[in-house]
Amino acid sequence: MSDPNHLSATLFKNADPAAVFAHLEDGGKVTFGAFSSLADRIAVKLMAAGVAPGGRVATQVDKSIEALALYLGTVRAGGAILPLNPAYTDAEVSSFVSDAAPTVFVTSPQREAAHQQLAAQHGVAALFTLEGDGRGTLTDGLEPAAGFVPVGRRAADLAAILYTSGTTGRSKGAMLSHANLSSNAEALVKVWRFTAADRLIHALPIFHTHGLFVATNVALMAGASLSFFNRFDADAVVAAMGDATAMMGVPTFYSRLLNHPGLGAAAPGMRVFISGSAPLLEETHHAFKSVTGHAILERYGMTETGMITSNTYDGARVAGTVGEPLPDVTIRVVDEAGEEDVAPGEIGTVWVKGPNVFGGYWGMPEKTEQEFRGEWFITGDLGRVDENGVLSLVGRAKDLIISGGFNVYPKEVELLLDAVPGVRESAVIGVPHPDFGEGVVAVVVGDGARLAEADVMAAIAPHLARFKQPKRVIFAQELPRNAMGKVTKADLRRSHAGLFG
Ligand code: AMP
Repeated sequence: MSDPNHLSATLFKNADPAAVFAHLEDGGKVTFGAFSSLADRIAVKLMAAGVAPGGRVATQVDKSIEALALYLGTVRAGGAILPLNPAYTDAEVSSFVSDAAPTVFVTSPQREAAHQQLAAQHGVAALFTLEGDGRGTLTDGLEPAAGFVPVGRRAADLAAILYTSGTTGRSKGAMLSHANLSSNAEALVKVWRFTAADRLIHALPIFHTHGLFVATNVALMAGASLSFFNRFDADAVVAAMGDATAMMGVPTFYSRLLNHPGLGAAAPGMRVFISGSAPLLEETHHAFKSVTGHAILERYGMTETGMITSNTYDGARVAGTVGEPLPDVTIRVVDEAGEEDVAPGEIGTVWVKGPNVFGGYWGMPEKTEQEFRGEWFITGDLGRVDENGVLSLVGRAKDLIISGGFNVYPKEVELLLDAVPGVRESAVIGVPHPDFGEGVVAVVVGDGARLAEADVMAAIAPHLARFKQPKRVIFAQELPRNAMGKVTKADLRRSHAGLFG
């Protein structure tokens, strides 16, 4: 007998074909059986188009249940899914397609003409379209797939290539195996206690690990259902809380929900709210607790590793902490020299090891080697672990500011700024400075109150050593963010590069 398809078999082990997997925005329902059959039919079409084991299927499409089935269809065809953010320009798409050499490219009808050219140029065997409403040449005339058996794939085989968002350099294609994805889903189902009785609000994009793998794979594996939204809309999400039990979101979802007058009445019936992909402001955590009674459960992960740590379900969910390593995952917090673990409470770089850690960057063996020490992957995140093994993050190593030879951790200054009355949020960056190498600059978003630079400085200065104090406070209407709500500090550094001359 041939091998099973490792990921598909593990994800569907609890699925009841007759049970509802997805509740759609238009009131439609998709059962596990219907979803699975759609994935099979897509798999057959992909294989007819030339997708062989290990072949890549690139997608740049709007979110839809069909786009989710395309992920599974690709996996069942033995291929690797390569989802791209619809916001990428044709020039960006061209560089990904040339790098990853996909067999099939699925795009939106609006971009078909441009992408036809690009596909021909890069030797893509077939180009299909898929609209946000599920129509397109991918789903047109799908043949029944009776008797189709998913292509056998083993635990170590490639299931996906996800390009990192590239906020600190060139995007790299993280190669994720069947076991990377299945082991992470297994751990999360367990620690977050998902069962078939759950209904998860899914309003995240599906070109990123959070919506594509964390939310989808956890629901599939638990046999739970989704309230599936093509985009985040606070009204729709609050309305969905009546029937749902759980939500996964990025911090901006939670701050937007807090502005919704219906949140306080709708949320208490829910079981759990989970946040990640970017830092959750302590203020958001506390405000959400006071309005809903729920302490948001924060977890930490990245494209290359899936989820790494999570607040425990029963334990304290302390604002500003991202919890403990998941089962089978180990972390270290290592000194600047990359040699020794720092003492509890001290800041170092987070290293991670476990079945969740990716195999390397596509086509970049040297880059891969630089970021691994043996089995340990160097995340590039700075953090500290307390005596109980609970991790807090203080920022990306690349955002660390070195001013006059001293390290300034932006998070420490941001926490103080955020506590100043009239400040809604802040980002602290280092920009070139003739004397200090880098000068500390605070970019502050006010909540409408009149704020002056001198007042902000006066409020935080007593709490900070001189070298950590911002040399300038700049007021902004909002902070630049990427699709997952992460503040793009590289953009801020670029905008303010000339500040000190
Ligand atoms: P991505 O690969 O786009 O998922 O980005 C991963 C990065 O997001 C991590 O390396 C962290 O810097 C950041 N991140 C993820 N989760 C959290 C969290 N809960 N708190 C703070 N930063 C986070």
